[in-house]
Amino acid sequence: MLRTLSKIVQTQKATFASAAAAAPAPQTNPDILYTGLFINNEWVKSSDGKTFNSENPATGQVIAEVQQAGKTDVDIAVKAARDAFKIGSPWRKMDPSDRGRLINKLADLIERDRAYLASLETLDNGKPYLAAYYGDVAGVVKNLRYYAGWADKNHGKTLPIDGKYFAYTRHEPVGVCGQIIPWNFPLLMAAWKLGPALATGCTLVLKPAEQTPLTALYVAQLIKEAGFPAGVVNVLPGFGDTGAALVDHPDIDKIAFTGSTDVGKLIQRGCAGSVKRLTLELGGKSPNIVFGDVDLEYAVEQSHMALFYNMGQCCCAGSRTFVEDKIYDKFVEMSAERAKRRVVGNPFDPKTEQGPQIDSEQHTKILGLIESGKQQGARLVAGGGRAGDAGYYVQPTVFTDVKDHMDIAKTEIFGPVQQIIKFSQMDEVVERANNSDYGLAAAIFTKDLDKANYLIQALRAGTVWVNDYNVFGAQVPFGGYKQSGIGRENGPYGIHNYTEVKAVVVKLTDKMS
Ligand code: NAP
Ligand code: MG
Repeated sequence: MLRTLSKIVQTQKATFASAAAAAPAPQTNPDILYTGLFINNEWVKSSDGKTFNSENPATGQVIAEVQQAGKTDVDIAVKAARDAFKIGSPWRKMDPSDRGRLINKLADLIERDRAYLASLETLDNGKPYLAAYYGDVAGVVKNLRYYAGWADKNHGKTLPIDGKYFAYTRHEPVGVCGQIIPWNFPLLMAAWKLGPALATGCTLVLKPAEQTPLTALYVAQLIKEAGFPAGVVNVLPGFGDTGAALVDHPDIDKIAFTGSTDVGKLIQRGCAGSVKRLTLELGGKSPNIVFGDVDLEYAVEQSHMALFYNMGQCCCAGSRTFVEDKIYDKFVEMSAERAKRRVVGNPFDPKTEQGPQIDSEQHTKILGLIESGKQQGARLVAGGGRAGDAGYYVQPTVFTDVKDHMDIAKTEIFGPVQQIIKFSQMDEVVERANNSDYGLAAAIFTKDLDKANYLIQALRAGTVWVNDYNVFGAQVPFGGYKQSGIGRENGPYGIHNYTEVKAVVVKLTDKMS
């Protein structure tokens, strides 16, 4: 569905208009119904009475006061999840196919409330409503339905062990999971973690990002409505120490985190204390390599979307656009023109392609990196500053003459800032593309099959797209090489990451007495 959005809604104006017409109108002032902690299928306040605010990044205004889970609340929620996981509990006794039905029921309810959820996501996160509707919420439904199908298919093996034994493996749920969700795709990243955890029979405590807690809280109520037993899913909004309390908790078996590499490293250290299972989906500085033989207009548009989609707040953003020297100047000119045409504004307006950045901290960081690009000698050909007076908007920005040593070529900017870098030789671009601590994604644009096949093997990245970008599927694994992460989400690999393999060896008897 993200593909539908990036390829249809945002690239072709005619289809953009028809997609807008086909979507229900957004609720520009959606009701905010749930701001508490969701523990054991009940809404409660934080034990110490603390709250924090969530803002609308388009205006900078506070839209909700949310309960802030502290360590005591984490203890209570983990106990609820542990009780729900006990052998003999309703969840553990449930037939696997019924688990699948429950996950599908949740998908039905999210589909029922799709326009509301997309509106709430837009309000809390700032992403264009059409992106939330066609990309995020539709992707959530697809993901949950995919994993609903897995609930009764996570089977083990029988093993031809020597001797008179029957040996087999059981694929058991890993246990109680702590899931820490980022703010760039708040609901979609929650679904990527909920789906495999529930399909395998785990229980969990989920912590949404402090910037964007509202849609996960609404979905918590849908989880109750769907009929999940109490304690299976607990949602704890928090700010400052909730994530660390989950990571440190001795009764959590596995942590799943999506966010920055720096925090990922802290979490990895924290997990060592009790040897927790861990999946990390971290940052990137993904190379997008464009050869001279491409359809220029297509490659420029794809490269634009590769970077600017979701205000540049994508872990897999194509933030190093390597362009072959023979088309470089023309590519730069067309990319600058495209960025200047990008429609920045109110995310509820169907014409808007780009809303605000998530918060003041990210806004300041992005503007600082743009300044560093100017100072270090990159040439600005579009944008270069804040947009508007209110909210956290940044002009669509394009730098050319970018050199590999510059900060803008190395740091994950996580904003609408495109770096266009010149290359001339295949081996040179392989080395430069791989010369990064990250290895999340990469793309190749060429009509030459040999070049594409060579690069598919040579690039050190968890995903390689050929002649396209930002194409996702619930069936297709996503995750990083190097410092971009550990493990994979989506597809069967997502199931493996929530499964413990138990070997069972049963002595067979020769004779019956
Ligand atoms: P972040 O640093 O990635 O993560 C913040 C989250 O991590 C919060 O939920 C926080 O919970 C939790 N956390 C912080 N310290 C922790 C610890 N020691 N143990 C466990 N959990 C901990 O996000 P950010 O500060 O909002 O964004 C910074 C940068 O991260 C961005 O500029 C971007 O480069 C990157 N980012 C990447 C992605 C992605 O998709 N890979 C998404 C978002 C951001 P508490 O508040 O409870 O501490
Ligand atoms: Mg918010």
